[in-house]
Amino acid sequence: MGRVVMMGVAIAIAVSAAGCSGQSARPTPSAVPASGVPADGGVVSLTFDDGLERQQQMARELTTRGMSGTFYVLSTRIQAAGYLSQAQLAQLSQAGHEIGGHTRTHARLPALHRDEQRREVCGDRSALEAMGFTPRSFAYPFHAVNAAAEAVVKECGYNSGRGQAGVAAERITPGDPYNLNTPLSIGARTTLAEIQQYVIAAEQRKSWAILVFHDYCDDCGPLGVKPKIFTDVLDWLKGRKVAVRTVGDVIGGDVRPVPPVKAPSIVINASLENYFGKDGVPDCWQLDGRSATATFSRVPGARTGRWAGRIQVAAGNPYRLRLAIKQDDGECAPKAGRLSVWYTSTVPVRFTLSTRTGDGAWSRWVDGPVFPAASTWRQATWTPRTAQAEGISFGLVLTAPGQATIDDFALR
Ligand SMILES: [Zn+2]
Repeated sequence: MGRVVMMGVAIAIAVSAAGCSGQSARPTPSAVPASGVPADGGVVSLTFDDGLERQQQMARELTTRGMSGTFYVLSTRIQAAGYLSQAQLAQLSQAGHEIGGHTRTHARLPALHRDEQRREVCGDRSALEAMGFTPRSFAYPFHAVNAAAEAVVKECGYNSGRGQAGVAAERITPGDPYNLNTPLSIGARTTLAEIQQYVIAAEQRKSWAILVFHDYCDDCGPLGVKPKIFTDVLDWLKGRKVAVRTVGDVIGGDVRPVPPVKAPSIVINASLENYFGKDGVPDCWQLDGRSATATFSRVPGARTGRWAGRIQVAAGNPYRLRLAIKQDDGECAPKAGRLSVWYTSTVPVRFTLSTRTGDGAWSRWVDGPVFPAASTWRQATWTPRTAQAEGISFGLVLTAPGQATIDDFALR
């Protein structure tokens, strides 16, 4: 909070200095009503989820009509096939559309541990900022929201969270900006009249209709709105009293900083379920020493969840292949504790550990205790002495050529 206040003071000083020099001082952004949202005819926000590539066509239809929308995107999907690329999103942003956050991986937030929620929300927001965007607005995947999820969205610096579905209208000054109400998502079966009804209701009550769109096509699944209906809605909106504004502009407020990284107290992606990109390495993990004879793969037959990990060394030094928690500044690397993991293995296995000290340097890998080969799931645990560590990384390695299947890492 201190930093936000400081920034406000800095802006105020800059403005008054400009005034002293005789130039007309521009008001600070926060001193102006966000967008001059007219209160007499209600407001509608057109929002688009998941950063699907076809939304570029929808954005173009908006731009042609002088309208702006809010695009809630997933940082881990940007560049993936079927999704908007960073360059495409930058074009949208330059055209006046708002880029908001929607978690890294489309996570159902209420189900997650708080540290995992922080990674999904704060980590996503930092990633979007690193790409040059300034996300102020957030949308909960699956409309899944509870008090804990709201607290994290607020803590991560967002000014709003689009929440609950199935409620036709929100107030222009929402009772709870971290759980904005929306009507049901607009999909293949939604009619023009139904969409118009949401807008007319907002006009009549002088309230705010936040419309939720996903895909755009005549036949691409239940969440694809038909282009004809979409453009008819836009043309119809142009003649109405209702104002079309982005969510960020209705809510207003400055772009707040992302809070500093806080090392998690749990293992993130502990069950090796989430994978992104083409390298086949689980999110928040790193894979060293991979070769033609030393491989890692995800395999079914997990102890919990959908996937387990398999490390396999056909020949050569088995210690060289290492799947371990990503050695980072605390987004993934947790604080110390008692380590555990479940495994089956054809050869004995052992823990491998590296620690990070205050200056940010990571130690050499050290070996932990050895555990016997196991044909059924067995838990290995170890409490290393890591009192000085700011963060740790650990994994399990083979002690001889063979294979091990691993799942459900934990830290206590
Ligand atoms: Zn979504």
